[in-house]
Amino acid sequence: MRSERPSIAVVGGGFGGVGTAVMLKREGYEDVTVFEKGERVGGVWQHNTYPGAACDIPSHLYEYSFAPNRWSRRFSPGPEIQAYIEGVARRFGVLDRIRTGTEVKSAAWDEQRNKWLLETTSGSHEADVLVTACGQLSVPKVPPLAGLDDFEGPAFHTAEWRHDVDLAGKRVAVIGTGCSAIQVVPAIQPEVARVDVYQRSPGWTLAKGDFAYSPVLRSLFRRLPALRRLDRASVYAFQELAAAAFTRHRWLLPLFRVFGMRQIKAAISDPELRRKVTPTYEFGCKRIMLTDDWYPTLTKPNVDLVAEGIGAITPAGIRDASGAERATEVIVLATGFASHDFVAPMEISGRDGRRLEEEWKEMARAYLGLSVPGFPNLFLLYGPNTNGGSGSVVNTLECGIGHVLAALREMERARARRIEVRPEAAQDFDRELRAALAKTVWHSGCSNWYVDENGNDPSNWPWTWSAYRRRTRELTPGAYALGEPETANLAQALG
Ligand code: NAP
Repeated sequence: MRSERPSIAVVGGGFGGVGTAVMLKREGYEDVTVFEKGERVGGVWQHNTYPGAACDIPSHLYEYSFAPNRWSRRFSPGPEIQAYIEGVARRFGVLDRIRTGTEVKSAAWDEQRNKWLLETTSGSHEADVLVTACGQLSVPKVPPLAGLDDFEGPAFHTAEWRHDVDLAGKRVAVIGTGCSAIQVVPAIQPEVARVDVYQRSPGWTLAKGDFAYSPVLRSLFRRLPALRRLDRASVYAFQELAAAAFTRHRWLLPLFRVFGMRQIKAAISDPELRRKVTPTYEFGCKRIMLTDDWYPTLTKPNVDLVAEGIGAITPAGIRDASGAERATEVIVLATGFASHDFVAPMEISGRDGRRLEEEWKEMARAYLGLSVPGFPNLFLLYGPNTNGGSGSVVNTLECGIGHVLAALREMERARARRIEVRPEAAQDFDRELRAALAKTVWHSGCSNWYVDENGNDPSNWPWTWSAYRRRTRELTPGAYALGEPETANLAQALG
């Protein structure tokens, strides 16, 4: 029997960790500690400070539902989002629950005491419940490009931007043409002498339609909250349409493709450049990139799109696969993130010493992306298969936090000290998920960051975001087992 409320440790102080701290506080949980390895909260928005960084989901959806903001633009720039996250942490009074500058190295489940034991860079910590909010895109991926170590100038990843390197008047190479690159290149093009963009395979785009909110519109949004809610609902509806098109209703994709083609044709008249930027795979297979200035930038006289592939990096430049070498003073690696390890490099060991890394050797899997059999009282926010080609990650995180709250409620109702997803529930879910994923556009034959080199997809959610909300809101009867410490077989089933 237990009377006091559980203590909760949260790993990560980005949108997920700050949102968890606030939502737990609103439910009256007092013993909550968030660990953030950076010096400030903000997660990806603290790290991705490259020129042009901005969200690519309209801000009225890319915000907490409980903290509407007065954004300056339709798609707000990175520093404004960073300030928003910090402002939410301050305004909702959770800053004192966040330990910045502290990295969690490992977490081990103590079976006897029903506790998670955390080893951090500033000592040990115990908690009843562990929530990870590490994000999927936090570990920069640097490809093994021949000669990169011998390059004489600065070479850095977009997520580790070197603000001490002045790009003005320099010859710069940007490697990659994903969501980060299409923001960086237009932002730096006006100031650099040249920018060579190394494209391995092009991506489909749609017009972003970004604009600054006029004072009148800002005042209308402030005075008429219903207008902001309507805007949010319309953005959500469009994102749901895209989710349906990527998954069960792929017949819709050719319609989107028409707009993608139109954008290319409107901006680029050179047939050779058009050919280079036009993907040959199905619309939506890689993440759709929203942009208004990518193609116009590629037509500028100081920009060259190199699609021949990279042969090698030399000390003073890059040699493409055709043997041509271009002199380069700075290399920007817009090459994405190691997204398939989720909580790594943190080590998590559960019941009977099981290591999460081992459990996930073939591929990371989790029930609703949140729970793993053998790891009691552990919840993974934005965990395996909760990403999508559409939708707002903030919404996904809020759904996950809602699930954690539902689990905590059940534990309190049952006076249980532990909750663990049943293996059968996790297996049934995984079967259903894999069958649905196979039919999605992400598995239609392009390379994308969702699917690994063996064809496994630990990344994406194959249904709509309304379905995710519905499925995570409450615990499905029988999906979890609740137990007291002495209950060896966790026999007290839910429901
Ligand atoms: P990404 O989409 O994974 O793109 C990486 C790029 O690097 C791709 O063009 C890839 O080519 C290229 N690349 C990788 N290895 C290479 C190599 N060895 N040689 C040449 N090119 C190589 O990464 P990202 O642009 O950082 O975006 C990742 C995700 O972050 C996005 O999908 C999005 O979810 C998120 N994001 C969001 C925003 C936002 O506005 N909110 C902004 C940036 C990123 P291939 O395509 O051929 O693999």
